[in-house]
Amino acid sequence: MKPHWLFPFSLVICIAAMCEQIINQPTTKTGFHRNSVLFKAETVSLPTEQTLNYGDPTPLTSVTNQSHDYQHILTSGPVTKREIALTFDDAPDNAFTPKILDILKSKGVKATFFVVGWRMEAYPEIVKRIVEDGHVLGNHTYSHANLPKLNDDSFQQQIMKTDNLIEKFTGFAPNIVRPPYGNITNKQIHWLGSQKKYVVNWNVDSLDWKGLTGEQVAANVLLHVHPGSIILQHSGTGKGGDLSGTVNALPTIIDKLKSEGFELVTIPELLGIPAP
Ligand SMILES: [Zn+2]
Repeated sequence: MKPHWLFPFSLVICIAAMCEQIINQPTTKTGFHRNSVLFKAETVSLPTEQTLNYGDPTPLTSVTNQSHDYQHILTSGPVTKREIALTFDDAPDNAFTPKILDILKSKGVKATFFVVGWRMEAYPEIVKRIVEDGHVLGNHTYSHANLPKLNDDSFQQQIMKTDNLIEKFTGFAPNIVRPPYGNITNKQIHWLGSQKKYVVNWNVDSLDWKGLTGEQVAANVLLHVHPGSIILQHSGTGKGGDLSGTVNALPTIIDKLKSEGFELVTIPELLGIPAP
């Protein structure tokens, strides 16, 4: 390689490495305002979630994500209490969700499951068990839609259809919503607000959807938690997806957090969200 090629080549490598680092950083937003239920982002890196094998919308780019109205997205609870919330997205399935429920039960921990409507229809007995075990259900849309791509009517249908399904199991529609991929427009956030619903993302990403080992998943969580953290994990996956790392990491995560004096609570408990 001739010397005059070296500089631009090195520059490209450096930029690529920086981008990789930024994308893989968990979010670190803090500053909970309990009265207004708003957050101020001190530093913002981006929620990441890989596409699933069903639906498979393309995740929005980092730049598009940053256009979100982050002050209206809840990503962590108060830093003044040693409380942390475990959340599981893309529930239910019949492969990994039952194993996760077994572990939560054996450890006496309540968590929050963001459920996908069509999966509820496919595995109603698992939803029933989530509710009977005392966990909280949140709305994760009907088809795991990439919400910014939808028109108003389609977006609202995604929410309402899933609300109706959840209500059949719990007796009420949930007031917490997690948009797939963390992606949502300001207009959609404001509509949810008008329906007295809260948009809940996360500030610790286990990256478990990548098929990581239990050790890697546990490290991604335990190295980044702090009081008030909302931890993102998954309990359902598409065809061929592997969440055994999630299952293997969970006992370690729970035991370690408890040993450090953290109480594991649901999202409504962490954020002080009143019952719907
Ligand atoms: Zn999801």
